[in-house]
Amino acid sequence: MTVDPAAMRMTQSSVRAANLALVLSRIPGQQGTISRADIAAQVGMTRSTVSRLVDDLIMGGLVREGGTTAGARGRPAVPLSLQKGTVVSLGLEINIERIVATVVDLAGEMIDVQQRDLDVLGLSPADAVALLMELANTALESRPDGARLTGAVLALPGLLDRTGTRVLRAPNLGWEGVSPSDFWDLTVDGDPVPLRCANDVDCSALTVLRDDPQASFIYVTGEVGIGSAIAIDGALLTGRSGWAAELGHVCVDPDGELCGCGSVGCLETVVGARALLDRHGYPDLDSLIADAESGQDAAVTVITEVAVALGIALGAALNLLDVENIRLGGHLGRLEPLLRDRLAAELDRRVLWAQHSGIETQVVEDAPLRAAMGAGLSGLGRVLTDPASWIDPILV
Ligand SMILES: [Zn+2]
Repeated sequence: MTVDPAAMRMTQSSVRAANLALVLSRIPGQQGTISRADIAAQVGMTRSTVSRLVDDLIMGGLVREGGTTAGARGRPAVPLSLQKGTVVSLGLEINIERIVATVVDLAGEMIDVQQRDLDVLGLSPADAVALLMELANTALESRPDGARLTGAVLALPGLLDRTGTRVLRAPNLGWEGVSPSDFWDLTVDGDPVPLRCANDVDCSALTVLRDDPQASFIYVTGEVGIGSAIAIDGALLTGRSGWAAELGHVCVDPDGELCGCGSVGCLETVVGARALLDRHGYPDLDSLIADAESGQDAAVTVITEVAVALGIALGAALNLLDVENIRLGGHLGRLEPLLRDRLAAELDRRVLWAQHSGIETQVVEDAPLRAAMGAGLSGLGRVLTDPASWIDPILV
């Protein structure tokens, strides 16, 4: 049998590309370091193979070496971590009350933030993107010398087409069928900067995964509506078109109120911040929390309604997905201490396997820049998943 040399070279280069990505995936960004020997032990490659791959990643500007420390059995170990400031991405957000441009590097550091707080509903999409470009240009002035830009990702509160080009519907912005890239012509050093759009909650979930890379969870967060994202073993579950995880539009009351999506009794109509406060006449979340904490009947009833509705929707999701970790953010995170017992009781009752595996609920700390930061991380994703295509042109 003869072996086609071209096919052989192709196989070798794809194996190397996969190994580079595997090694890079073990190297931490902000937290901690790892040695070549530890990577070799984790991924099952020889130390010399790992060393060659790490050397290429260092030459390509993706990984840095720290000072030598004493390793196992007295051998010196060189700590490795992701390189700061050499590869950056623009992480952008347009939301109801703000437009944000950040520059994020591979190590997960935010190099610069430019934010304008305003009523975005009062702007046309063209004007909103024009302001976004202005902020992005200012943010890029802080880019370290020689840093390479991977592109720009824009986090938006809406449903996007599968290519991340067109906003199919973003009801809270009043955008439908809008392509932000039609208004985007940012260039850096004369080169156009490609723009991709992503769902804002998926972007926020990427920041949770940055801190807990192999996690599996359902993330439910509330600002105006209810957003959610699902991660399985460190990867977002986005569905075939990127439309998965719309927990906010799962029905929790067939006779309930009309939802902004056109359906009836969606989770969002019961636990969305605006719906929740308007329906019960609370001026803000603080007054609801204060009343509930002091045991006032009306407030306790509201909290019970929220816990039951969340229990119905999350119970169905856990039964479908076999995920045991729930992360609550936004106003739901603030309400979590009040919801905790009733929500746990609902889940215990509804989730088939609840008696065999603990269901854990955690609060995701509020951070207004989460979506923009996650958009930046998303922009860096292709470097992390396919480092060969990024560094090989440099190494040649
Ligand atoms: Zn709905």
